[in-house]
Amino acid sequence: MSHIAHWISGAERAGTSGRVGPVFNPATGEKIAEVDLASAAEVGEAVGIAKEAAKSWRSSSLSKRAAILFAFRELLAENAGELAAIVTREHGKVLADAAGEIARGLENVEFATGIPHLLKGSFSEQAATGVDVYSIRQPLGVVAGITPFNFPAMVPLWMCATAIAAGNAFVLKPSEKDPSAGLFLARLWKRAGLPDGVFTVVNGDKEAVDALLVHPDVAAVSFVGSTPIAKYIYETGTAHGKRVQALGGAKNHMVVLPDAELDAAADAAISAGYGAAGERCMAISVVVAVGDIADPLVAAIAARLPKVRIGDGADPASEMGPLITAQHRDKVAGYIEAGEAEGATVVADGRKSGDFPEQGFFLGATLLDNVTPAMTVYTDEIFGPVLSVVRVESYAEALQLVNDNEYGNGTAIYTRDGGAARQFQFDVNAGMVGVNVPIPVPVAYYSFGGWKASLFGDSHMYGPDGIHFYTRGKVVTSRWPDPGTSKIDLGFPQTR
Ligand code: NAD
Repeated sequence: MSHIAHWISGAERAGTSGRVGPVFNPATGEKIAEVDLASAAEVGEAVGIAKEAAKSWRSSSLSKRAAILFAFRELLAENAGELAAIVTREHGKVLADAAGEIARGLENVEFATGIPHLLKGSFSEQAATGVDVYSIRQPLGVVAGITPFNFPAMVPLWMCATAIAAGNAFVLKPSEKDPSAGLFLARLWKRAGLPDGVFTVVNGDKEAVDALLVHPDVAAVSFVGSTPIAKYIYETGTAHGKRVQALGGAKNHMVVLPDAELDAAADAAISAGYGAAGERCMAISVVVAVGDIADPLVAAIAARLPKVRIGDGADPASEMGPLITAQHRDKVAGYIEAGEAEGATVVADGRKSGDFPEQGFFLGATLLDNVTPAMTVYTDEIFGPVLSVVRVESYAEALQLVNDNEYGNGTAIYTRDGGAARQFQFDVNAGMVGVNVPIPVPVAYYSFGGWKASLFGDSHMYGPDGIHFYTRGKVVTSRWPDPGTSKIDLGFPQTR
């Protein structure tokens, strides 16, 4: 069984807290590693080292930073297969999906290679006679990233590429359930030439997170995870004077209008509902069937379900892997039971499917019809392969349902009517909207973030918002008077 340590000052460092957590291969149920769980003292030491590294890193030239980012990008692309295998082994998602998350993370690195352009300020010559005004953006110092289990490579890449390019030192606290991807990235950063201490990994649980949240030398915290923890991170971090962006959970609705292309909508419901076993924050968990498309749509989704091949993510034939832990699998199964008890129609029951290995944390694809907004399968984020269908009579009713929901991460509309789609994009209260696109994760040069209980803070992640989040503005007003003409003036500065 392997042992997963921290990455501090450019090298692996074994933990000293005496606490470890188990890491499983969800496809076999086997415990494959133990990960060190950092104490507050270990976090403090790592932050101290990062603080020193940040001091010289912020002085590095933009071209040097860009060169290191280009080198990191090449290494990440070359080693994407190995990283995908690591993600699959600890998370369970199928290899193609793991490769997909690395490809999306790579795009964030590519965006950050443009840092010389992205950090350009503005300049106003002659704002007053002989006075010039210009703005610059400077790094914050040490910034921390606390990440979820479901994208162990992509979400750290959402954060670290931009944070480091902007001149900060970045401390990653990965999910303790699948921590190896973070260490793999650390080794690549080192090989790319990043100075020691600029990228740090402290593995751990709540104790490590709390230590980061209160540490006076951590200037900002980026968090991605569930809503209750996101709220806690935001409140605790801001109470300790930090800048915080905390992305939370989701309940993403796919509205299917009566004129939608039926096969495209059913295909989208399958891929967005059951891809990564539903463990995506942008997964579609509710299909809102408007009017008389409901019966054919449910039939079309149900007809596709038996073809979804469930198995070990490392087997290229598998399309859907297991859930992250046995406890989570049981919790998701409990929701199917609750849905049935509350009156939903169980069209496909993942608990009964016998098409996957006995060992491992598998659950079959489940389809629930006639779900109502009062049912727990509707109100709660299930985060598993359970798709609910809510039937409504009109566009207005569908919109109301989406807008009344607690979460507002992503949403999608399926229709052939451009006017209806445009109206939806205008009306809907969600941060990311897909028009005939089921998982509208923004490309790297836009920013990712939801509304309502899906995001605490006012900054979305990566892209332009990421640059803004990891830097602070400074405006310089400068005068170079002619020698001999300066005189004392106690009046308020005027520009005219
Ligand atoms: P989680 O909230 O349990 O854990 C996220 C991180 O917080 C981990 O690093 C974990 O160690 C830490 N943590 C957990 N409990 C804590 C506590 N009590 N105090 C301090 N820190 C704590 O989330 P998860 O189960 O790893 O990930 C799944 C969740 O993440 C889902 O809710 C999903 O919707 C959400 N998610 C959201 C987005 C988004 O962009 N909005 C993206 C991916 C995942």
